[in-house]
Amino acid sequence: MGKLPDGRQRVLITGGAGFIGSHLADSLLQLGYPVTIIDDLSTGRFENIEHLVSHPNFCFTIDTINNEIVMDRLASECDMIIHLAAAVGVMLIVEQPVHTIKTNIMGTEAVLNAAVRYRAKVLIASTSEVYGKGNRVPFQEEDDVVIGPTSRNRWAYAASKMVDEFLALAYHHEKDLPVVIFRLFNTVGTRQTGRYGMVIPRFVQQALRGEPVTVYGDGAQTRCFLHVSDAVKAIIALSNCPAAVGKVFNVGSTEEISIQRLAGLVLDRIKARNSSGELSFLKETENKSKIVNIPYEKAYAVGFEDLTRRVPNTEKIAHFTGWQPRYNLEETLDDIITYLAEKENVENSTTG
Ligand code: UDP
Repeated sequence: MGKLPDGRQRVLITGGAGFIGSHLADSLLQLGYPVTIIDDLSTGRFENIEHLVSHPNFCFTIDTINNEIVMDRLASECDMIIHLAAAVGVMLIVEQPVHTIKTNIMGTEAVLNAAVRYRAKVLIASTSEVYGKGNRVPFQEEDDVVIGPTSRNRWAYAASKMVDEFLALAYHHEKDLPVVIFRLFNTVGTRQTGRYGMVIPRFVQQALRGEPVTVYGDGAQTRCFLHVSDAVKAIIALSNCPAAVGKVFNVGSTEEISIQRLAGLVLDRIKARNSSGELSFLKETENKSKIVNIPYEKAYAVGFEDLTRRVPNTEKIAHFTGWQPRYNLEETLDDIITYLAEKENVENSTTG
């Protein structure tokens, strides 16, 4: 295969067996890029990449990015690194702050350190969490930031990702490493699990099982949910944009919804799909779910602070790359419902 339009060849995806990383691997392979992934399978799953194993342009390494020898070899063999490996999910972060801080900061340092030896371009995944309490909506890349006190674990994640951004920009300014930072807002889609607290897979799974749909707090808090394939397109657009180097970009949907309304919408969509016969293989349990509000202290650790609104301003990425999301929230939910309903169906038929 010849060089691609930006003159680069092999792409290394850290965290490539994760939810977003595996979708990114799929898309890059489809575009003709050879792809290598590294993943320690801490939150990533081998089944996310199993279908790629026999692909002639695909390689994988199951290891941590902190293994210096392995990272050095992988960096030497690639032209671009898309760094997604991180401790993610609010639940995990609140429960395992040591792991979160170490994984995020030391992992990114390890990636940048290896990249600089071979001048590989690095795209760093950051997060909307770096906007902290973000009281000016929508969030813009250059906004000032207020985060909560160090006594509250939640902010360890934001702080660790801020250090990642500082570090990446420092490598760019001091060592001339080409880096691009993208801040992912709530991203959802197939292969995402609710295990680490993500709201949509949790709501859909609860609704499909006829269990209570658990809205934390009063549900007035809002989020914007981006379809994973739109997120992947944004990352690829940024990777092909020379003017993006040394800059930070929001990647997210601007369709804002309260969590209470989201719960209602999930139930409505499942009901509609069910009555049109599309989910007919589901058990009797569907359609029986009720929305219940759970106080934050019960849902998370005491003193947990949730964010009331999270909305990105995406003018910058649109201006630099022309990127716009393609899927609206209903289409996004429908994809997740289909995926999780099929999974439930398989699980039900194998467990009898
Ligand atoms: N949430 C909820 N019920 C759940 C899981 C999450 O009400 O079972 C809420 C959570 O408190 C937050 C929103 O949904 O206000 C989004 O949560 P998620 O963990 O998906 O993302 P983040 O908090 O990082 O935006």
